[in-house]
Amino acid sequence: MSRPRDNATADSSVLWRKMFALEARKGYLDSAVSGGFERYFAGQSAASNGSADRLAELRRLFAGYAGLGASQRAQRIERALTLLHAGETQRATPVAEAKRPAPPKKPAQRRVAPLPHVESLDDPITLLRGVGEGRARQLAALNVRTIRDLLLLLPRLHHDYSRVQPITSILFHRECTVRGEVVSLQEQRTKTGKPLVEMEISDGTGRVRATWFNPYIARQLPVGSQVAISGRVEQQRGILCFRNPEWELLDEEMLHTGRLVPVYPLTKGLYQKPLRNLTRMALDASARLLRDPLDDETRMRLQLMPLPIALEAIHYPESLDQLRIARNRLAFDEFLVLQLGLVQRKVEWQAADGHAFPSNPPLLAHFRGTLPFQFTAAQQRALDEILQDMALPRPMSRLLQGDVGSGKTVVAASAALVAIADGFQAALLAPTEILAEQHYRSLGGLFDALPENERPRLALLTGKSTKAERRDVDERLSAGEIDLIVGTHALLEEHVAFRRLGLAIIDEQHRFGVGQRAALRDKGYNPDVLVMTATPIPRSLSLVIHGDLDVSIIDELPPGRQTIETRRAESSKRREVYGFLRQQIDAGHQVFIIYPLVEESEAIDARAATAEYERLSTEVFPDLRLGLLHGRMKPVEKDAMMTAFREREIDILVSTSVVEVGIDIPNATVMLIEGAERFGLSQLHQFRGRVGRGAARSYCILIAGESSETANQRLDALVQTQDGFRLSEIDLELRGPGEFFGKRQSGLPDLKLASLGDLGTLQRARDEAHRILNADPHLSAEHNRLLRAQVERFWANGAGDLS
Ligand code: ADP
Ligand code: MG
Repeated sequence: MSRPRDNATADSSVLWRKMFALEARKGYLDSAVSGGFERYFAGQSAASNGSADRLAELRRLFAGYAGLGASQRAQRIERALTLLHAGETQRATPVAEAKRPAPPKKPAQRRVAPLPHVESLDDPITLLRGVGEGRARQLAALNVRTIRDLLLLLPRLHHDYSRVQPITSILFHRECTVRGEVVSLQEQRTKTGKPLVEMEISDGTGRVRATWFNPYIARQLPVGSQVAISGRVEQQRGILCFRNPEWELLDEEMLHTGRLVPVYPLTKGLYQKPLRNLTRMALDASARLLRDPLDDETRMRLQLMPLPIALEAIHYPESLDQLRIARNRLAFDEFLVLQLGLVQRKVEWQAADGHAFPSNPPLLAHFRGTLPFQFTAAQQRALDEILQDMALPRPMSRLLQGDVGSGKTVVAASAALVAIADGFQAALLAPTEILAEQHYRSLGGLFDALPENERPRLALLTGKSTKAERRDVDERLSAGEIDLIVGTHALLEEHVAFRRLGLAIIDEQHRFGVGQRAALRDKGYNPDVLVMTATPIPRSLSLVIHGDLDVSIIDELPPGRQTIETRRAESSKRREVYGFLRQQIDAGHQVFIIYPLVEESEAIDARAATAEYERLSTEVFPDLRLGLLHGRMKPVEKDAMMTAFREREIDILVSTSVVEVGIDIPNATVMLIEGAERFGLSQLHQFRGRVGRGAARSYCILIAGESSETANQRLDALVQTQDGFRLSEIDLELRGPGEFFGKRQSGLPDLKLASLGDLGTLQRARDEAHRILNADPHLSAEHNRLLRAQVERFWANGAGDLS
């Protein structure tokens, strides 16, 4: 922290600017100088502090400062800074410069470097001292281009160097800080020729040795320097020492030692120390620009830390407690801005005109009568919600969530019937060819018992369709001779034109980019949109993620579904497991074996799965037919492999995690998951859902390597419950919300702070978004100006249109 001194140098403006920055950072509490600003300036004399005019002006500005509210104080600080800035630019003429005597070269003189003048948080970081082209490029590799980016560059962690200790009391292996004088210094070379600087530091209680492999240290810390050293205490030949510790001169502001020290993500050529200097500089230079988008009342009510303080504390916290509260504040803001955007979009989308489909109960009763089963209560509820929505004269944006096998297809099919009966067309968009084919077949089956004149005319369009088929589909679609078309991305191609698209159904939304969804929607006049997903998300998070969608949930499986026997197996029992697979295959069934994510790299996963595939085909099951599936294969190759498996040309499918979510292989009875500890709970549940699709008893076997406590809890949960929603909730409890947002959600802007928050924060942010928009739907009120700017910035990066 910049502690102002009374015997400041002749020109105080640099020091004052730092004081003002500190004041802004602390939230305008009049706490940057002891006794407050008014008293401070009253006590300054013009003789040693530059022009009398300027000082008089400052005194005027700070008269009564203590009695002002935060925003008025902010204005005063702003004006004071402008005043100082104007003074500096006037005086910085070369002539005046030349006349000034050279400053005395004393080592370790207090560093009160002038701050760069930052006008806006969007200013480029090149404005900062020491950031040239090279450094800018390094920072760009961390996605840091503007001052704002730098302020939001989150430390990976903080070293706790806050414990300053007498040298005699330091302990082996502990992180600590000592302060003292450099009493001896030696430059050497190691046996391998590396330069080595070794020095001894004394603090009066004792001496400790510190070594660096950096020859420059010798110049920066000559004998006699007062220095602080932070690091982990190590040992060399029985003597305690520091190796490559963090250091800084005692006379400087403490950034690298003696406190909670931020550790940033780095790139080649960029080191912690310069990066810390930059974040420090950015915080100081921009402190006066930081405004809290939330007013005092809101902040108090939600118990949030003021934003300027939170930004300071996220980098340079005074305590771990303060750090936690700061993170919470930043996470809140991110979620608030996300929610504001989502809710606004929904309001906008629904303000457009849409078609009101009459519900048509006789038609649906008739359709239900033709089905070999009764709807579950959950299916009926979801369908009612959908139909109510469709009956409104505004476009529907609804998500239908339900576990694998919960019967989403028949619900969607019912909605399609209603649209078709009213003279419109419907489309079902699937993420892969094989899933499109599967939907096409099952829809055909569902409509089969309807009399010819009521049966929708179906068509399929995928990448496999021939030119002639495509032309035919195009013609019939635009002539209105197709009622319901099922397809892949091929449906989105420009030549595909509907006569009257009324309902767009999208399966597995996570696989579709936002642009593609919008493209489908543009093919109709504001059609109703129904998105289906088999990935259960806890209700609490669903609200957060799908803020622009209404959500219907099928949380009940049709009666009589078999439970999939789920067991954990020791890896020492793999032989027995293989024996069991063989029995199942001998009985005419098929088997999946999943290999885990080795790293976040498909190439490495593919290699690991390939190696296992080789081993299994040659050593374990040489007489059986094995297939291999991984993410490095082309979509057509993957599709061909899945088709071969479905056609029973393969007994064992060895796969990485890419195996199709919705794929139906009724004859497969065993899902063996290797390295199960590496998968998330939802994903494990998805894998398990690949079996048990037929009549035969089915099994899921989990083999785990060394597992952490939470991994064990995950696997136990999977063994104990088959309910996807329950599992997603357990997953959330075990991992926290950050993990759910860790991977980029398709259609959402990058959430980088989300992992800092907890569920309570997310929900409060959502409630607050609704409260704000209820009062000011377009964020056009003056007091929401900052929020609106934040929302626009956040959503600007190609997030486009959701739903
Ligand atoms: P989802 O798409 O949700 O994974 P599906 O719609 O594919 O599930 O349904 C799985 C199977 O269950 C299909 O064969 C379907 O015909 C059948 N099914 C759907 N609803 C019911 C029900 N209420 N009772 C019995 N079987 C049903
Ligand atoms: Mg399905």
